Amino acid sequence: MIMQSVYRNILSELGSDVQLVAVSKTKPIEDIRALYDLGQKDFGENYVQELVDKHSQLPADIRWHFIGHLQSNKVKYIASFVHLIHGVDSLRLLKEINKQAARQDRVIACLLQVHIAREETKFGLDATELDEALQAIRTTPGDFTHIRIRGLMGMASFTEDQEKVRDEFKGLKALFDEHFGPEQAPPDQHFLLSMGMSGDYRIAVREGGNMVRIGSLLFGKRV
Ligand SMILES: *Cc1c(COP(=O)(O)O)cnc(C)c1O
Repeated sequence: MIMQSVYRNILSELGSDVQLVAVSKTKPIEDIRALYDLGQKDFGENYVQELVDKHSQLPADIRWHFIGHLQSNKVKYIASFVHLIHGVDSLRLLKEINKQAARQDRVIACLLQVHIAREETKFGLDATELDEALQAIRTTPGDFTHIRIRGLMGMASFTEDQEKVRDEFKGLKALFDEHFGPEQAPPDQHFLLSMGMSGDYRIAVREGGNMVRIGSLLFGKRV
């Protein structure tokens, strides 16, 4: 069940500069619809099949974010409608997104995922790999005509240690500032820094994130 007051409080806390992606993975259509009816348009999903099913059953003006680990062979199922792909962590995947976007005559917005959690094995590029990926995109723009890199995404360690989480977000923000300065943004757009979930979004926002991905706080715990 969606608690309207929780939603409103999160929105007012985030203000107009931070975008909320409501993470609806494993949650039923009715819950998504209830939040949509309160005005939420951005929803995030982790699994391709689940996203495809939900997309077909819910209003067309929902902006669907893919936030999970995307396998190259599944890009084709979401390429016609996905709004933003958060977890891109290889040029191979980026090229496949480009190919499927071209087939759909679309430009698909992507975030490059950076590996910031030091202890855990999470997907993502390290600083050097990020550098190399951006360099490759710059030097062979013809290979990437149907994608747009909108910024970075990262997940902090799952820990009670707030200092550690803060340090990890700081590191991601530093990379973001290095590669995605406001002066490099196209005139009508700003770059996106997707960081922060239910347990750590306050830290993420304080450290400069402008897009948070919140699930359990909005929808209740997942089983
Ligand atoms: C599940 C998930 C979230 C949301 O997690 P909550 O703790 O429920 O807010 C955010 N980002 C990613 C990548 C996820 O997989």
